[in-house]
Amino acid sequence: MSDCLFCKIAAGEIPAKKIYEDDEVIAFHDIHPVAPVHFLLVPKTHLDSLAHAEAQHQALLGKMMLLTSKLAAEQGLSDGYRTIINTGHGGGQTFFHLHMHIIGGKPLSTNIS
Ligand code: AMP
Repeated sequence: MSDCLFCKIAAGEIPAKKIYEDDEVIAFHDIHPVAPVHFLLVPKTHLDSLAHAEAQHQALLGKMMLLTSKLAAEQGLSDGYRTIINTGHGGGQTFFHLHMHIIGGKPLSTNIS
């Protein structure tokens, strides 16, 4: 996946405003934030999208879900936050390496369309 942007960020080949990293995941600020806080949580292993996840990824996906609250708290999102995983062209995904958006820092609409 040499042309994958998020693989390159995970490998440290392209800079990002990193807020967390371990051996399995990396989190960094979105380059075009839609709210005062907007970061991406990305597995280091390449998966095109959530639709490509399999049973072997269960622990990784669970870890990502649990990490959101820790990272959100560290980013000051004490009043709550939104997580989004766009999946496939129909789901609005534009970068085809699985990633979770964590967004907050302003009142968010209850309309999720
Ligand atoms: P999605 O539409 O769900 O595929 O979201 C892709 C996200 O990646 C968008 O919110 C972009 O702003 C973000 N993005 C693209 N390039 C970069 C980059 N170099 N660093 C951080 N975020 C990026």
